Amino acid sequence: MYCDCLIKDCSVLTANYEVHNDYGIVISGKKIIDIGRSAELQEKYSAGETYIAQGKLAMPGFIDGHTHTSQQLLRGVISDEYPIIYRRFNMPYEASLTPDEVRLCTELSCLEMIKSGITAFADAGGTFMVPMIESISKAGLRATVTKATSDISEGLPQGMSESTAECIKNNEELFLQYNNHSDGRIKIWFQIRSVASCTGELIETLAQMARQHNTGLHMHMSEYSESVLLTLNKFNMREVEYLDSLNALGPNLLAAHCILLNDRDIRLLQENDVKVVHCPRSNLGKGVTKTPQMIEMGISVGLGTDGTAHSGLSMFKEITAFKHSQIVTWGVPYADNAVMPAKTLLRMATYGGAKALGQEKEIGTIEIGKKADLIFIDIDQPHLQPTHNLINSLMEAGESADVKAMMVDGNWLMKDRCVLTLDEERLLFEGKNSINVINKRMMG
Ligand SMILES: [Zn+2]
Repeated sequence: MYCDCLIKDCSVLTANYEVHNDYGIVISGKKIIDIGRSAELQEKYSAGETYIAQGKLAMPGFIDGHTHTSQQLLRGVISDEYPIIYRRFNMPYEASLTPDEVRLCTELSCLEMIKSGITAFADAGGTFMVPMIESISKAGLRATVTKATSDISEGLPQGMSESTAECIKNNEELFLQYNNHSDGRIKIWFQIRSVASCTGELIETLAQMARQHNTGLHMHMSEYSESVLLTLNKFNMREVEYLDSLNALGPNLLAAHCILLNDRDIRLLQENDVKVVHCPRSNLGKGVTKTPQMIEMGISVGLGTDGTAHSGLSMFKEITAFKHSQIVTWGVPYADNAVMPAKTLLRMATYGGAKALGQEKEIGTIEIGKKADLIFIDIDQPHLQPTHNLINSLMEAGESADVKAMMVDGNWLMKDRCVLTLDEERLLFEGKNSINVINKRMMG
């Protein structure tokens, strides 16, 4: 039988998070059509391309459930700064970006994602959407993107808020024009930046419209105490209760961060099947999430980077920071150090992300019929081998540089760490020039 691509002689991480050696994957078009022992697959198929992946682990690509591609040229600014950084740094920076800078940011961000093994991501809001969408399309990644949406101008720089009617119109027009762009790889979601910057009317309307259009809604939730205190002071409800009163909680809601939650908040997220995404290294400047409780209650949890401005786009680093912060908080005080096991972490960074993007039937695991969104990790290295348990070692000691190759929708985006869809040298050169311009502008 003919297939487009036969990947063979590698280890494969299967859907139950087990590693099988001497395995292979068969791809036709965008999809995985077979998985099994290399020798058997080789007998069965004649391939357009054969990729010998000896010494590598084939696994589903990481899914970054919450990032800001537009903040790629803010790298290095916010470390060691006092809160609340998004008001003092991120928002003024975003408000000043030109369409060309957004294009450059998005391409640089996609470049870093490809080299970090991230095959799909959810962008939490951009200003100039056309250059952003065109850049993601060129890079070849999978994404759900949103337009930054706020209708309360107080505390925001000029240009970062619009009238309620304009916000609604812009979200819907973007959806109608660009949803399923790039052969379905790019989805348009609706956005509420946060309860601090959106009116109840806007939140209620966008949540309702997202349901009507069968798309998702992305927001920052319970990240800072100011948002919890704000709804308590204004409406005598905690933030999650307030969102529930507006009918905004539902299975299509991607709630980023979810740090400052009480038991009732968590119960509401569970009852409404809200998809939680933590951004560990960003979150740890604000608090420690109650993730073991959420997982125990069956809440879907994914991981995100929160963009390069915070700490770069390494999912491996998010995983290790998350694991150790969870152990020290929920493990050590109760003699329960197995509170965040390696398989749970790996599942969060892949399948958890797929659920957050509403695409768990298509991506997030290596299974027949799913999209061929794969990464190939060089496991024959002294920091990973020899090992008694490859998944444990990968979650503790894996690095972005270990990701040697990537494909999305069955198309190669990187081989031997050479990105095939973007010009790395040119982007780094342009990025360095641009960051000087931005620095001068920010410093006034
Ligand atoms: Zn964010």
